[in-house]
Amino acid sequence: MSREALQELRGQIDVINLKILELLNERARIASDIGKVQLELGTSFYDPQREAQMLQALELSNNGPFSNETIKALFREIFRATLALEEKEARTKILVQRKTEADKTIITLPDGTQIGNSHFQVIAGSCAVESFEQMDMVGAALAERGIKIMRGMAYKPRTSPYDFQGLGEPGLQIARQVANKYGMYVTSEIMDMSQIAMMSEYVDIFWIGARNMQNSFLLRALGQVKQPVILKRGLAATLEEWMYAAEYIVSSGNPNVILMERGIRTFERWTRNTLDISAVALIKLETHLPIIVDISHSAGRRDIAVPLARVAKASGADGMMVEVHPNPPVAMSDSKQQLSIPEFHAVMDVLEGVTV
Ligand code: PEP
Ligand code: MN
Repeated sequence: MSREALQELRGQIDVINLKILELLNERARIASDIGKVQLELGTSFYDPQREAQMLQALELSNNGPFSNETIKALFREIFRATLALEEKEARTKILVQRKTEADKTIITLPDGTQIGNSHFQVIAGSCAVESFEQMDMVGAALAERGIKIMRGMAYKPRTSPYDFQGLGEPGLQIARQVANKYGMYVTSEIMDMSQIAMMSEYVDIFWIGARNMQNSFLLRALGQVKQPVILKRGLAATLEEWMYAAEYIVSSGNPNVILMERGIRTFERWTRNTLDISAVALIKLETHLPIIVDISHSAGRRDIAVPLARVAKASGADGMMVEVHPNPPVAMSDSKQQLSIPEFHAVMDVLEGVTV
């Protein structure tokens, strides 16, 4: 073959390369549109049945010289690249991501109480519901300070299965009764999606604890409830993982998510966890969701509650969460960190004096 003939054939290949390039990108643009529809429908980008159908159709139309195996291998590469493109585009469209400086989610409860506006909202109450008398004493103290959101925990995720696990539904009944008496809302931790219908009878704000932060089935299920959802940061979750956990709820239909920083596991032993205060600034920077600081589980001790409350307020958080018990030394759970009622009042006195 002459040099000229080689040049000519190479020229033809160059033209075909450009055509393939154009077709590949045209295919990618259409796939990207399909990805957008799938995102709206909440269906998976990866559809193995559809891939198998496409490969079968290609095999049937293949007249060679490439073997069916070679054709399938080449198209599988195209499928993988397309999937990666769809996933990348979805990542840039995260719903919880803050788009503009003014972008913020404000959650409004039926009486007008808001979370995420400029008011520093305090959520308080005992670690667990133990009895009506205990909840009533705490409820009265909370009401005195104008607290609107009360912890009414009936299911406790304890480290040991032999420790107090919470009162269950009777505990929710007590919490509801006390909250109604003092005109407050109940927030309570849910462990499993099977509890949604029953808990909806008692709970105004669902609560996902640290241990369930990445339970994607529970997150999606709470995306379908009408109540707002508090989502605690996982024990060792990065901010990105936490943000994606919130995205599960929001993308499933519930925009009312409140993040709660509760400290992360570090080598430090003087506190139960390490309060990551920079998380507040970063969550505010990256998302439009409100964030509350849990000064109880992050510290695991009550003697630093006052300075932590000051820090929480000064951090720019939308509020603070604190555990209160009429008699902390005999509490059924978290006795080292729950504040007595006088200690709670002392924290509230300080907060009311703190201006940010
Ligand atoms: C709680 O706040 O009731 C609790 C159990 O804390 P965490 O899920 O953060 O451990
Ligand atoms: Mn607790």
